Amino acid sequence: MRYAIIADIHANLTAFDAVLGDIEQRGGVDEIWCLGDTVGYGPDPHQCLERLQQYRHVCVAGNHDWAAIGKISTADFNPDAALACQWTARQLSREDIRYLENLPLTVEKDIFTLVHGSPREPIWEYVISTSIARQNFNFFPSPYCLVGHSHLPLVFKEEADSCTYSRLGANIGLVLGESRLIINPGGVGQPRDGDPRASYAIYDSDSKMVRLYRIPYDIVATQNKMIAKGLPIRLAVRLQHGM
Ligand code: ZN
Repeated sequence: MRYAIIADIHANLTAFDAVLGDIEQRGGVDEIWCLGDTVGYGPDPHQCLERLQQYRHVCVAGNHDWAAIGKISTADFNPDAALACQWTARQLSREDIRYLENLPLTVEKDIFTLVHGSPREPIWEYVISTSIARQNFNFFPSPYCLVGHSHLPLVFKEEADSCTYSRLGANIGLVLGESRLIINPGGVGQPRDGDPRASYAIYDSDSKMVRLYRIPYDIVATQNKMIAKGLPIRLAVRLQHGM
């Protein structure tokens, strides 16, 4: 079986469609695993939710997903994110709200635990250091954990009494072996590792391999939509820098 691992679409339909097109070109997948933050920041929240639901998929809740429906507070959001969140709330249909409301915090799939932030704190915690990763290995039962939230393609590896990390490079197959791992596929709709291309991964359960892909998309088209819809200009500009 083959699974697409996607995270942080952030209402960027142009980027999401580019990723879906790439998945199709590679022969498709049996299921999409979505690690949350489908909405927030970008210009097409409703359209992205609708698109995702056209596919067989599982999805967990992200902070932007629940903030947009008032299920959690935006007190910790920066001013641009909070403004985008208020705008997003006005774009959602009754069905969108119900869908977001019912997203689980954690899903177990095959040999993976899926969460948005971290297994310890699924909504808010960023797994961006080896010390945080090391603590989080105690909070999931499966061999491997998939996280989003930081928008950084990274892999953390549990060692005997330490933890190491490396960047996940495009097109390099990560073979799942003995060591437990926490894997982040990067962000579809707002990459933050300095590479503006959309980021996602495919897991092949036969070869036990996770492979990351970077996909160019029409960034200007997304930026133009954001400006036309009155979203904060800084959120549009950051897309071209991948930051
Ligand atoms: Zn996010």
